[in-house]
Amino acid sequence: MAVQPPAADRRTVIENAAIATVDARDTEYARGHVVLLGNTIESVGDGPAPAGLDGVARRIDGEGHLLTPGLVNTHHHFYQWITRGLAQDAILFDWLVALYPTWARIDADLVRAATQGSAAALLKSGCTTASDHHYVFPRGAGDLLGASIDGVRELGLRFTALRGSMDRGRKDGGLPPDHAVEDTDEILAASEAAVDRWHDPSPGSMLQVALAPCSPFSVSTELMRQSAELARRKGVRLHTHGSETAEEEEFCKQLFGMGPTDYFESTGWLGEDVWMAHCVHMNDSDLAKFAETGTGVAHCPSSNARLAAGIARVPAMLAAGVPVGLGVDGTASNESGELGTELRNALLINRLHGRPDALTVRQALRLGTMGGARVLGRQAEIGSIEPGKLADLALWKVDGVLHSSIADPVAALVLGALPPLTALFVNGNPVVEHGRLSTVDEDRIARTAARAARTLAARG
Ligand SMILES: [Zn+2]
Repeated sequence: MAVQPPAADRRTVIENAAIATVDARDTEYARGHVVLLGNTIESVGDGPAPAGLDGVARRIDGEGHLLTPGLVNTHHHFYQWITRGLAQDAILFDWLVALYPTWARIDADLVRAATQGSAAALLKSGCTTASDHHYVFPRGAGDLLGASIDGVRELGLRFTALRGSMDRGRKDGGLPPDHAVEDTDEILAASEAAVDRWHDPSPGSMLQVALAPCSPFSVSTELMRQSAELARRKGVRLHTHGSETAEEEEFCKQLFGMGPTDYFESTGWLGEDVWMAHCVHMNDSDLAKFAETGTGVAHCPSSNARLAAGIARVPAMLAAGVPVGLGVDGTASNESGELGTELRNALLINRLHGRPDALTVRQALRLGTMGGARVLGRQAEIGSIEPGKLADLALWKVDGVLHSSIADPVAALVLGALPPLTALFVNGNPVVEHGRLSTVDEDRIARTAARAARTLAARG
């Protein structure tokens, strides 16, 4: 069952919190207030909320807390929640080859269980909007995209479901086994049907759909071209993996006679309506093409480290004006599944470029909020705390034993341990309270996910 938005005349008031709005000027309040009206932000400012407000259903004392926009996750594979802890010491291609046969045995029930585990980890770490790139569709496995959408809806996360795809198996020079890929025409028909059935383009949408062929080494050139045409005809966005590893770059040069970015350009895959995961192996010319076209990047620092892929050039991307957001990536290559911790990991990993200001604390928070909103094309609706935007907010407790002595509350969030969440609002609804999901029994999610992982493992 879907979580219903609060009544349009109902107000929630949060006072006495430090507030990082992440607006265009990075406005902060040491002790401020936010008023939510229905599912939107009515006001934000210094000091207490205005007196005499009608319809105040709830007041929260934010003393000892930092209030930020909800975090935005730009890259994930929810189904991987039930294949965590496998292929622990492998680079991407070996890891994929080890896991493809297991993934090719998933079905709708398993996807639903895995989705709820992934979505729970996101919500419990401050994420209010997420995309999920699902690209494994075994024949006869049921309605997998529908299963993930149902699973997310029950938890109340704002969602972009990505209809992924693979049609280049081993016999066509690709990496996945032939039984794990689909037919090109079937993919295009299913992609169009998914947009028609689920994509809600209206303001405040809780569910959008985008098209997402998986990667150059698992997708035919024809499918890349036709997916781009279809997405533009239907008015939805495009997503894929790009420039993740040195091996992928080599693959592209051998098969297409050019590197990944030039290949994407040749297939119509650069533009403001496109974002790509990873973008680790990019030269200056690649970066300039992304900047010129407004192509977005989902930076996934933990997954890139886990698979020894390398360090994306985020400071150079930001300097060039490339839109950059953060991603957890699938939890088979980032077992934590938390988005909040990626703020810290992005900052630390980018400083390994050798500059202490490569990414500042506030830039890291911006990547995880407004940066992600822009990458998903929703910068007018989410990503900052401003009147008229959707009421997606995280209230972090920073006066506990782990944080109370850290001088700056934003540094407490980004540099310290991930603070406990006193409340997480999505669309005006408190979907996390005192660190626990308030929409569903999270212990049931844990049991169901464990059972699903065992079921899938037993399929061989
Ligand atoms: Zn990925």
